[in-house]
Amino acid sequence: MSREERFPRTALVTGGSRGIGAACVREFARRGVRTAFLYAAAHEAAAALAAETGAVAVCADVADRSAVEAALAQITAELGPIECLVNNAGIAQFRLFTDITEAEWARMMEVHLGGSFRCTQAVLGGMIREKYGRIINISSIWGLTGASCEVHYSAAKAGIIGMTRALAKELGPSGITVNCVAPGVINTEMNAALDAETRNALCEETPLGCIGTVKDITDAVMYFAAAPFVTGQVLSPNGGIVI
Ligand code: NAP
Repeated sequence: MSREERFPRTALVTGGSRGIGAACVREFARRGVRTAFLYAAAHEAAAALAAETGAVAVCADVADRSAVEAALAQITAELGPIECLVNNAGIAQFRLFTDITEAEWARMMEVHLGGSFRCTQAVLGGMIREKYGRIINISSIWGLTGASCEVHYSAAKAGIIGMTRALAKELGPSGITVNCVAPGVINTEMNAALDAETRNALCEETPLGCIGTVKDITDAVMYFAAAPFVTGQVLSPNGGIVI
């Protein structure tokens, strides 16, 4: 039997300097979990969050394998092996499909899908040794349904769902669960470009009548972090906009 009931003692959140990732860092820290996060460029926000929570902040591009491996070496030296990984780092871009360049397509894949691939590989040795681990991938409703003018984003997020399901089968016997949160529209900087009219239209389209908060997503992440008998699943806090 490969289930273990306890909550993780260490956690790594990618893209932890802002938005959903920062909320996950705060919640893990509040629960007494030794926490680290990766970020891309927001040094001031990262330093402030590290000071607030005691979390270890490391600037590392998840699209760069050597940067990820160096970050993991530093983090495990400080915190011990990572027991829970939240693959959250992400970028957004609105583009007509015909306008997406090779470089934009590759970057979208490398940050979302490639980042989840290499960060997971980087923590897996410790999890397999301990026969315990929680991997939580952040996808999107657009990975479930597709979004116009976000084909590369939607494709990468759909890939994350496929990766979650396949990896859950491969890692279950090692006591490691792999699950996915697919948020609806959440109030973070990623959606700062939405004008009031678009926001209102999204709220009207949503059965629960509003967009989500970061807490809606951290609640789902903490559920998967705790759950010993749940793996390969996709949970989509989205107010009912996708049912
Ligand atoms: P956000 O506020 O824009 O924050 C993005 C985070 O990812 C930041 O911490 C950023 O670091 C980090 N990041 C970006 N590229 C990175 C890279 N190459 N390497 C390392 N870190 C990187 O985004 P969010 O709204 O919290 O979204 C978080 C995740 O949820 C994303 O995967 C997103 O696709 C997904 N999601 C969001 C929504 C939504 O409505 N907000 C809906 C569905 C899914 P810096 O601060 O240093 O730039």
